[in-house]
Amino acid sequence: MSHESHEPLRGACHCGAVRFEVRTAVTPAARCNCSLCRRKGALMTPPFAAGALNILSGEDALTLYQFNTRVARHYFCKHCGIYPFHQTRKDPHLWRANIGCLEGVDPYTLDAGVNDGASLSVVEDT
Ligand SMILES: [Zn+2]
Repeated sequence: MSHESHEPLRGACHCGAVRFEVRTAVTPAARCNCSLCRRKGALMTPPFAAGALNILSGEDALTLYQFNTRVARHYFCKHCGIYPFHQTRKDPHLWRANIGCLEGVDPYTLDAGVNDGASLSVVEDT
């Protein structure tokens, strides 16, 4: 089960309003320990360039949530609350997708590291 060739992967939120296609590897997968990711617990893909993500439908269903340094952009489906992807804080040109939203990929079979997103915060977590 390798996606190293970066075949486009299809993804969707839970209710299906948001559908997207992304060209990315799925490993090394990572969990992030920032205050938001800690709560949602999603396993994310490695970072990919903004151009690798193609939103097929539901752009209007996405709600943007920003906090703290307000650099990262976290997107949620406003209908089902699922978090399909975010723009990273380290580099705004890089994005990560929620592996649990991708078709044909089982996040529970992947080894996952933890990204130290918490220490990237300039402002203390409140
Ligand atoms: Zn949804």
